[in-house]
Amino acid sequence: MSLKQMKKIELHLHLEGAAPPAFIRGLAAEKKIDIHRAFDERGHYAYRDFVHFLQVYEAATSVLQTPEDYARLLQAVLQESAEHGVIYTELFVSPDFCGGSDVAAWRDYLAALQSTAAEAEAKLGITARGIVTCIRHFGPDKARASALCAAETAGDFITGFGIAGDEGIGKPGDYLWSFDCAREAGLRLTAHAGEWGGPQSVRDAVRDLGVERIGHGVRAIEDLALVDELGERAITLEVCPGSNVALGLYPAWRKHPIETLRERGLKVTVSTDDPPFFHTTMTREYEELERAFGWDEAIFAEIHRNALDAAFCDTATRDRIAKDMELT
Ligand SMILES: [Zn+2]
Repeated sequence: MSLKQMKKIELHLHLEGAAPPAFIRGLAAEKKIDIHRAFDERGHYAYRDFVHFLQVYEAATSVLQTPEDYARLLQAVLQESAEHGVIYTELFVSPDFCGGSDVAAWRDYLAALQSTAAEAEAKLGITARGIVTCIRHFGPDKARASALCAAETAGDFITGFGIAGDEGIGKPGDYLWSFDCAREAGLRLTAHAGEWGGPQSVRDAVRDLGVERIGHGVRAIEDLALVDELGERAITLEVCPGSNVALGLYPAWRKHPIETLRERGLKVTVSTDDPPFFHTTMTREYEELERAFGWDEAIFAEIHRNALDAAFCDTATRDRIAKDMELT
């Protein structure tokens, strides 16, 4: 079986960040919005560094203005994921971008997303769940509004809450109210940390916010006591190696700590983060991991088991995916 055909689970994918550039350019042309500066001459997303990446990301997102736009986006994204063997995916969605964190507007966006996800499940065999994500550099007040949207719509589709954005701004504890609100609504919790922030950012997210998963978290490797603590707490890492290499966090795949973290017993998983921005796909991630660390089918099965154990879905969905992937 080729790595492309291998059935996969993805836990860390930003909906807008997964937008194919051609889709965004097409939508910009329809709406007569000029965003040519977001692209290079080959039509790829163009950015200089992480902060500029966030700006280009937000420029691309600015053409997504209605529930219908988001429905079309989700359709394109799930189609792409399914082509790379993904049968279960969790997407970060932000009420900040979908209706300006107004609960009524958010419900309209969500209805469009949910019906698109149901269609994709029937047609493409891919199951999707949404993790409402607040944006760290938008500040704690906006995060509260996102958490309220999440709490109001927690259910079959919205199953988690998280935080993304610029890790250099504020501390995880500034967002405690939002995470408590989401937890009380029955949502599962994850937080981006240990990408641009060092090991302490991971420790803070785990201890202060009580999350069960960390987005990235790879810089935990710089503090082995923290690695042991993550193991004891059974924290799962949503590792996105291609993203880290593309953004220059590590100079090459072989230098990425995913294999060392795995060997030390941490539950690691593999995702693409914002794939077209990083010129990656789930297939490419698997190919590079096979090349860099000799990962074989047994290790990929271990990664899939980790992902399924940490997935923010109900037991019936988990059992169905486990059966489909022969992970029982
Ligand atoms: Zn991310």
